[in-house]
Amino acid sequence: MANPTGWKPSLEEGAAAAEPRLDVGAGGATRGLAYEEKLLFERGSAGERCGVSLPRPSGDFDPAAELGPELLRGEIAELPAVSELEVVRHFTRLSAWNHGIDTGFYPLGSCTMKYNPKSSEALARLPGFADAHPLLPEELAQGSLALMHELERALSEISGFTATTLTPAAGAQGELTGVMMIRAYHVARGNPRRKVLIPDTAHGTNPATSALNGYEVVQLASGPDGRLHPDTVRAAMDDDVAAIMITNPNTLGVFESHIAEIAEIVHARGGLVYGDGANLNALLGVARPGDMGFDVMQFNLHKTFATPHGGGGPGSGPVAVSEKLVPFLPLPIVVKEGAGYRLVKDAAERPQSIGRVREFHGNFGMFVRALALIREYGPEGLAATGRLAVLNANYVRAKLADVYDLPYATDSLHEVVFTDKNLKATGVTTMDVAKRLIDHGFHPPTVYFPLVVHGALMIEPTETETKETLDRFIDGMRQVAEQAQRDPDGVKASPRKPVRERLDETRAARKPILRWKPGMTAGER
Ligand SMILES: *Cc1c(COP(=O)(O)O)cnc(C)c1O
Repeated sequence: MANPTGWKPSLEEGAAAAEPRLDVGAGGATRGLAYEEKLLFERGSAGERCGVSLPRPSGDFDPAAELGPELLRGEIAELPAVSELEVVRHFTRLSAWNHGIDTGFYPLGSCTMKYNPKSSEALARLPGFADAHPLLPEELAQGSLALMHELERALSEISGFTATTLTPAAGAQGELTGVMMIRAYHVARGNPRRKVLIPDTAHGTNPATSALNGYEVVQLASGPDGRLHPDTVRAAMDDDVAAIMITNPNTLGVFESHIAEIAEIVHARGGLVYGDGANLNALLGVARPGDMGFDVMQFNLHKTFATPHGGGGPGSGPVAVSEKLVPFLPLPIVVKEGAGYRLVKDAAERPQSIGRVREFHGNFGMFVRALALIREYGPEGLAATGRLAVLNANYVRAKLADVYDLPYATDSLHEVVFTDKNLKATGVTTMDVAKRLIDHGFHPPTVYFPLVVHGALMIEPTETETKETLDRFIDGMRQVAEQAQRDPDGVKASPRKPVRERLDETRAARKPILRWKPGMTAGER
């Protein structure tokens, strides 16, 4: 999002800097060039330039005849006429506009934007893993199957469950898979139920998942301490409730300390307890959801186990289950037989399985990275991860609590939620604080989530940041609060330093233009 170089480009490619740059943050930032970028479509000279220089086909070779009529569209596609080097420079420069974990602090709450270690990357690039085709016969893929089996065992052990499916491709798909298993479980017992209970602190994917499975969502109010209380669950629980979905610690960063009692209340009426494991980072190596009464939980490998995120790579959302949900696990399943490994793919072998939720075996490259991290850290290292993540969040909390409003006095675990209440008189809002932080060189925290908190600013530093980085961020947050009192218009006009200034977010959301068309003006794109 922010431009790490701090340059504000008013320049066409190749021109010298027209404006002096502004210093970013207390530590300053490196100097560099940022170019305004034309679209590839707006470059080059039509028809005269080409990205490849392969010899033309000889003789009577007719590409159209090779493809067959069903693949021919009958019109010439309008492709930009640019050289390979122009394309490489274009995308390399664009990549420098982006704010990533490798360029700066990225404290998005709930999203766990931690560093992706390069050792895990190196292992995932080993040709035996990286080049393995998903259709390889099992006898030629024993190493990959062994890795999947070891990861499956490790995740089950870390979370305290019986077995884990690796296939789902994201946290949200893991939730979907988990709730599909819950539904299959109730249907198999001849008692399909209609409702799922979800606290008001939940991530939006929880109600979406329930609705996609045909369940009615019943929202539960959390208490003044930010926790879900057993009496609330007891009042809503009946024989038509299939499950409760709980995140622990919840999205306020607060530990649901009544979880065991809540699980008992739900189990006593035949319901199941789903754990949204996106916040597992706080508990790693210290406590296990399987021991707290959860029946099923998804992992977000791209959060907790430091595999890349978003634009950095695909997600991975394995789902762990207790004994009673094992028969419903999706296919394929890796099993160890003697000294070798085999994939259970056939529904005849697992008649109660919910089937496949994704093609092939899941995002295998993420499995390599996650297992590499687990083996590198070991049990003590994983426990240190959880503790450090909690320590870092509490450090930020302690250093900002006199400036930003804390909506809940309850202790925080791995993330802390502030609000813009103290800035009310200045007219500066959470959104303005977030935008101004970009000028200080930081990615904004998560804003306006969780929904129960008005004007929420949710910060999750993760364990991978140094105290110096946290201090710079704290200083930036304090400077923004101080500027809000002195110069609120300046804050509201931010960000000024990245390549793109404040966007019209409403227009971007309501009228997104995702495709270039010939003749588009700069204002339209
Ligand atoms: C990130 C997150 C999810 C969804 O995970 P994705 O991998 O983004 O689909 C669900 N719940 C919580 C609490 C999360 O933070």
